[in-house]
Amino acid sequence: MTKYVFDFSEGSKDQKDLLGGKGANLAEMSNLGLPVPPGFTISTDACRAYLGVSTGSTSGAGSTSGAGQLPDGLDEEVSEHLQALEKAMGKRLGDPQDPLLVSVRSGAKFSMPGMMETVLNVGLNDKSVHGLAAKANGDERFAYDSYRRLLQMFGTTVLGIEAGVFHEALDDLKDNKGAANDVDLGIEDLRELVATYKDLIKQHAGREFPQDPREQMDMAIRAVFDSWNTERAVLYRRQERIPEDLGTAVNIVSMVFGNCGADSGTGVAFTRDPASGAQGVYGDYLQNAQGEDVVAGIRNTVPLADLEKIDKSSYDELLGIMQTLEEHYRDLCDIEFTIERGKLWMLQTRVGKRTAEAAFRIACQLVDQGLIDMDEAVRRVTGNQLAQLMFPRFDTDAEKKVIAQGMNASPGAAVGKAVFDSATAVEWAGRGEDVILVRRETNPEDLKGMVAAKGILTSRGGKTSHAAVVARGMGRTCVCGADALDVDVKNKLFTAPEGTVVEEGDVISIDGTTGEVFAGEVPVMDSLVVRYFEGDEPAASDELVGAVARIMEHADATRRLAVRTNADNAEDAARARRFGAEGIGLCRTEHMFLGERRELIENLIVADDVEGRREALSALLPMQRKDFVEILEAMDGLPVTIRLIDPPLHEFLPDYTDLSVAVALEDEQGHRDTKHHKLLAAVQRLHEQNPMLGLRGVRLGIVIPGLFAMQARAILEAAAERVKAGGDPQPEIMIPLVATVQELELVRSDIERVAAEVQKEVGVELDFKVGTMIELPRAAMAADEIAGAADFFSFGTNDLTQMTWGFSRDDVEASFFGTYLDKGVFGVSPFESLDVTGVGQLVRLATEKGRATRADLHLGVCGEHGGDPDSIHFFDQVGLDYVSCSPFRVPVARLEAGRSAAEGVSDTA
Ligand code: PEP
Ligand code: MG
Repeated sequence: MTKYVFDFSEGSKDQKDLLGGKGANLAEMSNLGLPVPPGFTISTDACRAYLGVSTGSTSGAGSTSGAGQLPDGLDEEVSEHLQALEKAMGKRLGDPQDPLLVSVRSGAKFSMPGMMETVLNVGLNDKSVHGLAAKANGDERFAYDSYRRLLQMFGTTVLGIEAGVFHEALDDLKDNKGAANDVDLGIEDLRELVATYKDLIKQHAGREFPQDPREQMDMAIRAVFDSWNTERAVLYRRQERIPEDLGTAVNIVSMVFGNCGADSGTGVAFTRDPASGAQGVYGDYLQNAQGEDVVAGIRNTVPLADLEKIDKSSYDELLGIMQTLEEHYRDLCDIEFTIERGKLWMLQTRVGKRTAEAAFRIACQLVDQGLIDMDEAVRRVTGNQLAQLMFPRFDTDAEKKVIAQGMNASPGAAVGKAVFDSATAVEWAGRGEDVILVRRETNPEDLKGMVAAKGILTSRGGKTSHAAVVARGMGRTCVCGADALDVDVKNKLFTAPEGTVVEEGDVISIDGTTGEVFAGEVPVMDSLVVRYFEGDEPAASDELVGAVARIMEHADATRRLAVRTNADNAEDAARARRFGAEGIGLCRTEHMFLGERRELIENLIVADDVEGRREALSALLPMQRKDFVEILEAMDGLPVTIRLIDPPLHEFLPDYTDLSVAVALEDEQGHRDTKHHKLLAAVQRLHEQNPMLGLRGVRLGIVIPGLFAMQARAILEAAAERVKAGGDPQPEIMIPLVATVQELELVRSDIERVAAEVQKEVGVELDFKVGTMIELPRAAMAADEIAGAADFFSFGTNDLTQMTWGFSRDDVEASFFGTYLDKGVFGVSPFESLDVTGVGQLVRLATEKGRATRADLHLGVCGEHGGDPDSIHFFDQVGLDYVSCSPFRVPVARLEAGRSAAEGVSDTA
């Protein structure tokens, strides 16, 4: 029978799948001998069984009841562990004389805002509240304060009552009593509040607050399980690509109290600054309070350093524990702690979220401290973090009007119109506007607005408030706790101390790196990291750029995959080269026929005899040659894959309606057989119902005589010109949309004929390759045959995705992908991140078949997936030789290729 409940002493930090992150780390801390209140964890297996989720089980199949039924045996196991806990604590749960109280806390493998988090003080009721007071030296205020907290948390998270119902009652009471803060309420006030809360529960939940302590606990456990599937939790998982079938664990922990008076309190701490990575004492502390007060940001905290003055011995102990944890986890840890009458307790730790900037800095600092090696440092940062560092920042020289200073919660420069609620943020962003979501504080209900906004500004809460934590996780710019701002959400405006009033729709700028808030639009400039990639030597003083440089060097030294770029002109090619591209993986030649040159293609299409076609082609040839000379020069010494023209021909023709009008006018004037007439006939002739499945790619080259030959000639003549100029051109001619080897053979023999002619004409021996794209399922399946005529394959995963799924790449993302994503058909568009299960298998198959025919077949990918981190890891595992992506993604791809290689290397530090 599956074991569902684990004592803290039975687990470790490596059991996050089974115990969730919180449970695994509580176990780890207990085993390290740190002061953790005793407790136990109900496993994710139990949650999955309760929810009826069968996949992804971590410890074998249990007896699954599903759909809201606790699995067999769970109840008894919980009873056993509760008894053991009661024995260890010398108290019984909810005992009227001396109650054991517990917290019930959710804890999934990945921390997840939007899920139920905590119910504190479970076990209190109308009787045990007196027992609690008696045991706290008669401190009834403390006992009733604890009870009203239980009612509020139980009411909202277990019974689903809106949090505002309780907040309003509390605010009304404070107004009536003239109390500025919760702590100013006296014992009678709290007693009154308890009565009000019980009434509110009855009114809104249609039932009494359960007085039976065990019933409270059981209901809270079920609520944690159920919270896995709340809309917000589902949305967050989709955003963060967290699998749906993990489930959450539940932690039952004996209570320690931070609300026993001035010698008590609660706080959060980081072993280093999660925004900058700097070492020091970071965190917030709140005297005489319970944990959720800090995270909710509803009362202003003091900096953790102030704890030294308040309670020196707890402070010293905490700093010692922070060092122990950082050395043990070999990483930045964040910590929740409580001090109960001068005694320090650790309530939680985990490897902390951090900004992109901090991730790079911390990784290098830990290497310098000897805690990790460079392989591990490379694994500790991500391509997405690097991409964030490449975002622009505010121009330091620009004139700007600072209207407030908040906390630098999540870096970046964001400019947009102020909006004051999540729905408006979503609506305005949906119509293409940049918005900054301004709130007093955020809560999980604001998630959609935070996703839609360019930046988030709050007037309350510290670096660990909801806004800060979530924004950092999403890489969204955030300034929080700008408490000089008077935010009036109801009237949709805020007022700055010097009088500036910002209303909904007014533009503001926020700097998440410095915490500054500016009125109006502040101009932005390139990031220092981009400047470094552009070739500027990293300034010795700039720790961030130095860290990026070190990590990139190691990634480059470690990676197996080469990184090329997709570029169609010399300028992009040169930039990509500076960014580390090792050649061009895709030069789309059709992009060279836009603008003024379009007419030349029109001439080719309407030419109705050999002579007309020859003329049109020879007008194009010199222009193409010049393009290729420039690109080959920019990438001198590196491979340049030039793809022959691909798109449907009608894309080059004028609009049907415009043409019809022109023709009708000319007919009226008696002009017949003009160019417009020919073009109209061509448009009619070339019209296709499904252009993506029609006359494009190699089919075009076969149908229009001389087109591919002209392009091949332009490439080879350009190469010859470069050789004569002393260069080292390495052209690779690539044929698009091949389905069968016969197509490739036809084109290849044409190219070889042209090559022989050119070499004879110019008297230069040319080195070049001919290969094909693999972008049709048939091509993947017939890759063994196709490899017989190809020097290389490049996977066109855009078309391969389109053709495998039967999704029109031009239409589906805008039409129904939203619904598909909402319904969880997939967590991310397969055009964005490679569908490993389907399309990926075709890539794997073609790789194996191709190499079986030609062991030295060179393999790459040039679809959009070449710059996507997850896809890059897959391409590395499959054994491709390179990925190719847009110039700005090149550093990201280098890093991810390094990370993929470093994944196979164990950490030796
Ligand atoms: C592809 O299909 O993946 C590809 C790179 O070609 P294009 O996007 O130009 O069709
Ligand atoms: Mg394609």
